[in-house]
Amino acid sequence: PKAPPRPHVVLLASPGAGHLIPMAELARRLVELGFSATIVTFTNLSAPVDADRLTPCLPASVAVAALPAVQMDDLPANVHEGRVLAELARRSLPNIRALLRSVYSTTLLAAVVPDFLCPMALPIAAELGVPGYLFFPSNLAMVALTRHIVELHDGAAPGEYRDVAVPLELPGGVSLCGADMPDAFRASFTNPRYAKLVELVRSYRLADGIPVNTFYEMELGTAEAFKRLAVPEQAAGEVFFPPVFSVGPFVRRPDPEEAAAGASSPCLEWLDRQPVGSVVYVAFGSGGALSVEQTAELAAGLEASGQRFLWVVRMPSTDGGHCGAGGDDPLAWLPEGFLARTSGRGLAVAAWAPQVRVLCHPATAAFVSHCGWNSTLESVVCGVPMLAWPLYAEQGMNAVILEEKLGVALRVPAAREDDRCLVTRHEIATAVKELVEEGQKLRRRAESLQKAAAGAWSPEGPSRRALEEVAVKLKVALGIESGFSDM
Ligand code: UDP
Repeated sequence: PKAPPRPHVVLLASPGAGHLIPMAELARRLVELGFSATIVTFTNLSAPVDADRLTPCLPASVAVAALPAVQMDDLPANVHEGRVLAELARRSLPNIRALLRSVYSTTLLAAVVPDFLCPMALPIAAELGVPGYLFFPSNLAMVALTRHIVELHDGAAPGEYRDVAVPLELPGGVSLCGADMPDAFRASFTNPRYAKLVELVRSYRLADGIPVNTFYEMELGTAEAFKRLAVPEQAAGEVFFPPVFSVGPFVRRPDPEEAAAGASSPCLEWLDRQPVGSVVYVAFGSGGALSVEQTAELAAGLEASGQRFLWVVRMPSTDGGHCGAGGDDPLAWLPEGFLARTSGRGLAVAAWAPQVRVLCHPATAAFVSHCGWNSTLESVVCGVPMLAWPLYAEQGMNAVILEEKLGVALRVPAAREDDRCLVTRHEIATAVKELVEEGQKLRRRAESLQKAAAGAWSPEGPSRRALEEVAVKLKVALGIESGFSDM
């Protein structure tokens, strides 16, 4: 007899490596738990070069469907990235609806899972009568912050906004001063950007649950605080907020066979020739860009440190913001003679490196990072201590977690100050040296967190169980499972 169809999950990923990579991993794990899956991507803002880099991350068992492009060129040039992505999702809603209806009519649709920038797709799941889960590629502290915003503004009249108190003490012990606050939350209530943000996070309440790319030991205090909040009965006057599920870390370490078969890269070949635990890896994610002045200062700092380094150089920004992929050769922006002077002990590559393979290479000793959440988890999974150099979004908050809560990172001094942007060559050289030469304490903590990360997805691990719990809920809703399984 023909096997019954697998229940199907549709995942909606906003553009950008930081959104697509963990979503692909979520899809892969749902397939392992008995589902079939489609990842829906956007055509706008997805550079062809991104597709080339990201296709290898997508599991063969997962289908990919790209939404048609929509008109976006009428947006003012200075609109913040998060808002552009949310606007893209909003304008794509008719296409998302058409696609979901067609999937609904041809599969056993079990759930719709948009990421945190596409919650406007949740009502379509409700229209179809299927559960909607909101995937959070960032951390629990960020969910706590959005929950706080929802509580702050629930019941307020439209257009009436309150400023977030600073310092903000999040439940679970993360304390944020002004400079650590994610950009969008730092905006005053008079800023239209804040109004848009409130509108976005209020709609998180439409989700049946929020799977988060984190694990218990990574955010112990915050995870415990959420447990206390998850009382079965909503207390009187309390604002409803969906249950959270810590299901990460969604980092895929290449297995040795795969790594041997995979294309090698100049970075990995170069690392193979370096001593164990000697190289500082420097990278600022897929969207981070330093100013021209900061790029020169970083080069001088790495040179002065005397340490071996592997630097993924991106095009510098000209306006202090971050720039898109493409353009000229980023290496051309390095100071005169830098490559020649550091040749042998330093390697600079343009734009992109196979980051997880670099981080788990035995030669890699430390990571100078912008603290994007995926980069953060990847460093933790590989047991590599960090120099935290947050640039935008929630990276300042991630740096606080890494330094103050987990003790696996040092923060660059400028990260603690509201009005200073430049990290000097002297600070870079000192911090990098400290990390490599005296970083034993940080390294020991990083190694112990690495073990916890590995445990999260072990057979009885808490993150695996949390995703299994969601899987059972979805199957019960379809009548496939009784809900009394011992999963
Ligand atoms: N990445 C990579 N090579 C690079 C830069 C980034 O493979 O040279 C990957 C990185 O491993 C991570 C993602 O791109 O999985 C970036 O996500 P993150 O959340 O760290 O930062 P974002 O790019 O969203 O700022």
